[in-house]
Amino acid sequence: PIASGSSVRHASRGAVISYGERRIMIGGGAPVVVQSMTNTDTADAIGTAIQIKDLARAGSELVRITVNNPEAAAAVPAIREQLDKMGIDVPLVGDFHYNGHTLLNDYPDCAKALSKYRINPGNVGQGAKRDTQFAQMIEVACKYDKPVRIGVNWGSLDQALLARIMDENAQRSQPWPAQAVMYEALVTSAVENARKAEELGLAADRIILSCKVSGVQDLIAVYRELARRCDYPLHLGLTEAGMGSKGIVASTAALSVLLQEGIGDTIRISLTPEPGGDRTKEVVVGQEILQTMGLRKFAPMVIACPGCGRTTSTVFQDLADKIQTYLRDQMPVWKKEYPGVEGMNVAVMGCIVNGPGESKHANIGISLPGTGESPAAPVFIDGEKKLTLRGERIAEEFQAVVLEYVKS
Ligand code: SF4
Repeated sequence: PIASGSSVRHASRGAVISYGERRIMIGGGAPVVVQSMTNTDTADAIGTAIQIKDLARAGSELVRITVNNPEAAAAVPAIREQLDKMGIDVPLVGDFHYNGHTLLNDYPDCAKALSKYRINPGNVGQGAKRDTQFAQMIEVACKYDKPVRIGVNWGSLDQALLARIMDENAQRSQPWPAQAVMYEALVTSAVENARKAEELGLAADRIILSCKVSGVQDLIAVYRELARRCDYPLHLGLTEAGMGSKGIVASTAALSVLLQEGIGDTIRISLTPEPGGDRTKEVVVGQEILQTMGLRKFAPMVIACPGCGRTTSTVFQDLADKIQTYLRDQMPVWKKEYPGVEGMNVAVMGCIVNGPGESKHANIGISLPGTGESPAAPVFIDGEKKLTLRGERIAEEFQAVVLEYVKS
């Protein structure tokens, strides 16, 4: 028989990120976690707390904030307090570069309020200071029992390590191509720094790794190698993915290949927001990648045909859009009241060609009339035609049918 695609997960040990009663497991066979990052000035505690609330309500299971200066570090406890008042218990991850050792030591309330630290080993310091400053951050993580992501990025790779890898390459009788040297430097940086953190006392199950690059094929090659060389949980994301459809397509292409191979325990979709755009889009895209791949379920899926010359009106596109928005908006309440509702499929189709067939495969489906068809929209529930809708209020009536189905 033809089997559906299956993925065997990269066997990673699990790391727990917690805040209060909330515990998020990364790796160790747990479902892939969706996370995001704010773009507010962290020193603006209210503005940052509001954006974190929006991201958390959209489904972000961890939210990362930059902690780049004393004002930002001082604001972190206030952000946590604001979130507590709003009833938002999403764990916060602090993103540190250059001065993390100072900020974590000088602002213990910030160090305590964060649930995880992200350390970029390329931005820890130069020369002899580097090891000391890295150790200072790991010591704080050990002291407060916080997990750490060793987050390598091609744009800020440790230059001393790169020079060493290039020297080693020059000694080879057949030197590797430049691209392979780059991959080796990224993976080596992540794995060596993780081992150093362990030597400094951080437990292996408090470490998560990432090696972000902006090219799809580069990301796939680097993460395959990273997964082969270690069993730390992996944070997956295409850095600087870009704007709009380019960013979405590039992230989806790269992440899908790796997720299908079982590589990646938590994901972030790094979209550049459109001017005035909604930051929560990166969360929705992350969820949709996981759901369309069958790895997780977040909200009912709307299956809609693209439309063609057989349908001259935009009625069915409007209906598909309305239903999708309606279902997403209901999820915070429905998830609590109707467990399992996120696994539901709703089909909205434009004509008789594929409409009834696709509708029968969904939990609920509606087949709108195409050009020349009688103005009637049969509704299928669990594979059977149950009623027919007509007239101007099809969208509202179909929404009511969906609600009844969910309740039942
Ligand atoms: Fe066109 Fe009908 Fe197919 Fe929709 S279901 S794409 S309207 S032929």
